[in-house]
Amino acid sequence: MTQYKPSTKALWSGEQEQLRYGATQVPVVHSVSYGYEDMDEWHAIATGQREGHIYGRNTNPTTQAFEDKVKELEGAEAATSFSTGMAAISNTLNTFLRPGDRVVTIKDTYGGTNKIFTEFLPKSGVDVVFCETDDHEEIEREIANGCQVLYLESPTNPTLKIIDIKRVAKAGHDVGALVIIDGTFASPVNQNPLELGVDLVLHSATKYLGGHSDALGGVVCGAKDLIDQIYHYREINGATLSPMASYLLLRGMKTLHLRVKQQNANAMKVAQYLKTNEWVEDVFYPGLQDHKGHDIAKKQMKGFGGMLSFSVKGGLETVHHLLPHMKLAKKAASLGCVQTIVGPPRTTSHVECTPEERAAMGIPEGLIRYSAGIEDIDDLINDIDQAFKKLPKELYV
Ligand SMILES: *Cc1c(COP(=O)(O)O)cnc(C)c1O
Repeated sequence: MTQYKPSTKALWSGEQEQLRYGATQVPVVHSVSYGYEDMDEWHAIATGQREGHIYGRNTNPTTQAFEDKVKELEGAEAATSFSTGMAAISNTLNTFLRPGDRVVTIKDTYGGTNKIFTEFLPKSGVDVVFCETDDHEEIEREIANGCQVLYLESPTNPTLKIIDIKRVAKAGHDVGALVIIDGTFASPVNQNPLELGVDLVLHSATKYLGGHSDALGGVVCGAKDLIDQIYHYREINGATLSPMASYLLLRGMKTLHLRVKQQNANAMKVAQYLKTNEWVEDVFYPGLQDHKGHDIAKKQMKGFGGMLSFSVKGGLETVHHLLPHMKLAKKAASLGCVQTIVGPPRTTSHVECTPEERAAMGIPEGLIRYSAGIEDIDDLINDIDQAFKKLPKELYV
């Protein structure tokens, strides 16, 4: 399928090999184990000398179709999947890190990832250094001090900062580090980090890949020798993606390009509208020309994404009044769904952090994160506009 364009791959890749009985869609194989009458065949499959399935914690045909599809969309040699995005992140880090190792990362990683770095890895004797997210000189300086892993995210959650991936990946490789990036916010439609020089790109498939907020999953893509090691860690430690979730993610991915194209366009229009609203203090969207990372985003992304955030006058009070008036936006955690989702990071992605920790990460308590859905753009803008008009004037400071 490598000769086809990404949107065609999203439909066809990974599926043909799993079809049986003339079915046109991949079956959900719920079987936990796979039986063989021929002892030699069984042994050959169990020892990896022949393709096939043995036990559901290791591999599954429906899950394999999902992995193969993501792998092709990221232009990777191999991919392996997980029960959640956080499992993809923790299993990948645990595969490669040893006591005494040093990780260089950024302050603005996803809340759960930040917890791994602050709470869990130090217990295993791994030293983690946090750089100012878009301070490339600081990141390069810390890399030059030596590290085994460089862990990135771009665009970041929730203020959409942009890292020059090519530049820092090169710095990482100069000191022999493994370069890992969480590509969830961009999705493979808008950004393919392997082309920019990173070693491993991982996704919370729960978000854009699935796209319907009805299945949890995670995936990591990269060179086969790296993925083999991560797969081995996961098959033993057991954070396996379920067959049903694999199917839902596989189905969601068929419309990935249509959805993300519409979400990119909607997010841009919403961001432009917010810039004109007198209640809005700041709008964070890499598609806006005055965004600090706009030029880098333009260079390394194919689209600016469906995520944005904005802060409002009157802070948290205004947020509490505004959100219930927004009717075309689910007030919920998560993102990347076909329906628009809004929420304050202090309640959603960064709820694990203290107000002090959030402040240190540059996250105002009155920030609203907006995950654009695929609704009609006029409806979305009218909905935000009428919600602002319902705010009590005394909040406006
Ligand atoms: C949601 C998310 C994760 C975690 O994924 P889960 O599927 O919820 O475990 C990791 N990174 C980013 C950027 C996310 O948005």
